[in-house]
Amino acid sequence: MSDLSELYQQVILDHYKRPRNFKRLPDANRKAEGHNPLCGDEITVYLHLDGDVITDVSFEGAGCAISKASASMMTATLKGKTKAEAKLLFDKFHKMVTGNREGTGDPAGLGKLEVFCGVSEFPVRVKCASLAWHTLNAALDGKNETVSTE
Ligand code: ZN
Repeated sequence: MSDLSELYQQVILDHYKRPRNFKRLPDANRKAEGHNPLCGDEITVYLHLDGDVITDVSFEGAGCAISKASASMMTATLKGKTKAEAKLLFDKFHKMVTGNREGTGDPAGLGKLEVFCGVSEFPVRVKCASLAWHTLNAALDGKNETVSTE
């Protein structure tokens, strides 16, 4: 576990301890649930879409520091973005945490989300970091089934 500690940077810990947008969204018109059986992370993502624009986003759930911090930072990034922009971010983020830089060049444009870059060295943690994003994707697509990383 000692090399993992490098992942737990200041930013990640801060978002874990004080997650942003950690609540139920009463006027959500999209919602999806995600589950990472490998680690036990569970998340519900709420979206309020106005046409193609994400006007509000929040999440609830329980999980490890990586999964919770990732969800918190994701919601903080998404407000005001269009569906297409959110999908593009999902793609970039996913390629970054899985260590696949092909096609995207560098992770530029991800801003603070780049703190999860080191996750790519820990395959188990990749699922924790990407759970919120997979769940977001399902919510954007209006899917009702629970997303599982397995
Ligand atoms: Zn986890």
